[in-house]
Amino acid sequence: MDAGETVNEKPACASNSRRRGEAEARTSIKPIIPKDDGVRRYAFGNSALTGTGAPVTVDIYQLDSMITAKRVSKGLIRRGSKAIVLIKGKITSPTKFCTACEAGVADFYRYGDNAMWGCPRCNASPRERLMRHLLDCGMLQVPAQGAILHIAPSERSLVRRFRQQAAEFVPADLYPQTYSLEGVQRLDLMELDDINRFDVIYASHVMEHVPDDKLGFRNIYRALKAGGEAWVMVPLAEGKKTEDGSFEMSVREREKRFGQWDHVRMYGMDIVDRITEAGFTVQVINADSIDEKNRRLFGLADDKVFVCRKSAA
Ligand SMILES: [Zn+2]
Repeated sequence: MDAGETVNEKPACASNSRRRGEAEARTSIKPIIPKDDGVRRYAFGNSALTGTGAPVTVDIYQLDSMITAKRVSKGLIRRGSKAIVLIKGKITSPTKFCTACEAGVADFYRYGDNAMWGCPRCNASPRERLMRHLLDCGMLQVPAQGAILHIAPSERSLVRRFRQQAAEFVPADLYPQTYSLEGVQRLDLMELDDINRFDVIYASHVMEHVPDDKLGFRNIYRALKAGGEAWVMVPLAEGKKTEDGSFEMSVREREKRFGQWDHVRMYGMDIVDRITEAGFTVQVINADSIDEKNRRLFGLADDKVFVCRKSAA
């Protein structure tokens, strides 16, 4: 699209991304709320956060003194940026397109380091917009009569899509009470004991919260039907190896080392090894490989989707 061209309808699903099966690499459920919407949430006290029954204490005072300034400034900048984009939307024509709410928008608003993070209409994040694009293009598919487990079901457009397409839709989280969505089940990924139940398990920014992610991946593998897929996204420090921590570390240390107080690791691309160890073959869908025009138009970032396949045999 040329600069300045108005966008009112969704463009054709053009992409030069790798199609399924053209993998570049060989290569469920979330312990705390990985929301990037700027809303402050706490989980503390004892909990299944560890999945072991061990008490977990989050020092809210330490937390406050540690990150209040950072969070406040991040939130203020986000609000300010969104307000500017909303005003811009009233005086200019759309030049971007949100795949989540399927509408043209003037721009996306800033959150943190990403200047094109949120949709001013629906607040969809870049990774939600990426997932919608992949579903719209058929690069990812929900089996029509399939069962899908959606961990951390905060992405509304995906909830709608999964509900429409799947015969069984199971939204779940370790803290279901934090969702306005009805029917969210409590689920600790490290205690997931379903066997051969789901066709698809979707977990976006979940695994970095799970104390024993290797157990989590094994449980996901077991919970999938033969031929089923897990769609996994995590924060990545590319070029580095995965660094593990624990909830025994101070919140200050976790924030510093893993980027967020409730993260227990920072993944590198060797996450692929952890996934394959659980039995999967893995395809990496890289948002960078989507053609530049659509990437700009949809405001996509550099997220990667790890498509984890359980053998059909
Ligand atoms: Zn939107």
